[in-house]
Amino acid sequence: MTVGIMTPGIKTPGDYITDVMALVKAKNPAEPEFHQAVQEVLESLRLVLERHPEFISERILERITEPERVLMFRVPWFDDHGNIQVNRGFRIEMNSAIGPYKGGLRFHPSVNLGILKFLAFEQVFKNSLTTLPMGGGKGGSDFDPKGKSDNEVMRFCQSFMTELCRHIGPDTDVPAGDIGVGGREIGYLFGQYKRLRNEFTGVLTGKGLGWGGSLIRPEATGYGCVYFANEMLKSRKDTLEGKICSISGSGNVSQYTIEKLLDFGAKPVTWSDSDGVVYDPDGIDREKLAFVMDLKNLRRGRIREYTDQYKKSIFMPTDVKLGYNPLWNIKVDCAFPSATQNEINAKDAQNLIGNGCKLVAEGANMPSTLEATKLFLEAGVLYGPAKAANAGGVATSGLEMSQNSMRITWTREEVDDRLHKIMIAIHKTCYETAEMYGTPGNLVNGANIGGFLKVANAMLDQGLV
Ligand code: NAP
Repeated sequence: MTVGIMTPGIKTPGDYITDVMALVKAKNPAEPEFHQAVQEVLESLRLVLERHPEFISERILERITEPERVLMFRVPWFDDHGNIQVNRGFRIEMNSAIGPYKGGLRFHPSVNLGILKFLAFEQVFKNSLTTLPMGGGKGGSDFDPKGKSDNEVMRFCQSFMTELCRHIGPDTDVPAGDIGVGGREIGYLFGQYKRLRNEFTGVLTGKGLGWGGSLIRPEATGYGCVYFANEMLKSRKDTLEGKICSISGSGNVSQYTIEKLLDFGAKPVTWSDSDGVVYDPDGIDREKLAFVMDLKNLRRGRIREYTDQYKKSIFMPTDVKLGYNPLWNIKVDCAFPSATQNEINAKDAQNLIGNGCKLVAEGANMPSTLEATKLFLEAGVLYGPAKAANAGGVATSGLEMSQNSMRITWTREEVDDRLHKIMIAIHKTCYETAEMYGTPGNLVNGANIGGFLKVANAMLDQGLV
């Protein structure tokens, strides 16, 4: 270990990490999700700092945990009854060392500064892993699209974009969708941007196919997560064929995870939403998937309606008093958390491990708590962390940006093939980096270190900015 050129007062990489973690907590109080995301990455970086003391002397960790810019703004709008509503809008422009800020917009009542900082921080490393030139950002609002009319959603999106449009652009910051922001919202946001700026550019991804969108973008996160899971299983000479799989959520990521699992011959058996869990022991087939796509994407209904249609399935309502989620207590081979952050706690992880689960691939962002992650790694479960396993979505957004810049359109097969190759490459990077840094099989370290190195080196090259 080299300690010669370290900053005065810092003796070891461990000291440096402890100091930076304390600083992050002091500067960002009451933001537990942000602290959690930073802690997970910093713990992986101990091994890197031992080999690269220049990252300590150049204060890279203080710099990489501080957003380049944080925007917070008022979003006033009229509801259908003529009442004035006021929400809060955000955009966190976290890091632009390797490309324009890139990351989704989340509309959900739980959105706050800390949650968006954690998502923007994760996005920096995820985007780096995709091999594409994209920096990291994230944004959104505490607006809840559930139960709102299309006109209300449109008025909200127009007001939100009226402020956001000053800060984004195809070479500056390119938002996309996330929870609560799908094709409908991206359409209204894009329309208002175009109107205000008088330019038709690739300023958002996830656009409609007729106006600049890319084939496979809606499918990309779910498909990519299954491609990643397939690579993880291959590393143990196993396949997805015949595997029983639990999936949480019933939105974009869940739907296309299930579609791709069916392509690979697996048997998906669960759905959920914030009201509860559906378990279908017969398995979810393509007809049942089409029913949920219609229910969720068009009729905007609740997942419990699945059990009215498919009588052998059961619904278990959400019960926070339980202390665990019954979805993760169903005996499966593979689990695909695809709803939201911290949806797998230590008890859930114990339940999955106890029931013989072999693989966890994270479609959602940071769905496992730090304790749950530790338990999976200790138990030797194949564990695909979010920033690697769900990077297919943003990677395909990167492909949408390329098509927009070149003013061309690739076929479905071409985009899917590129997505598949990117997911294979991300797995290879994580797998090999984990080995290179002495922790074989630990894809958490592989993803954190692999994503970090490219960004940190670019920051060194670009000086103190
Ligand atoms: P979505 O289409 O809005 O679906 C989200 C699903 O998760 C819904 O079923 C929702 O149920 C459920 N959910 C949300 N918050 C919940 C909570 N607190 N408790 C229980 N269920 C909850 O969103 P999505 O795009 O699929 O995103 C899902 C996850 O994937 C998020 O973590 C997101 O950050 C991550 N992700 C998405 C993409 C992408 O391309 N879309 C890319 C990378 C990562 P309700 O309808 O009841 O709210």
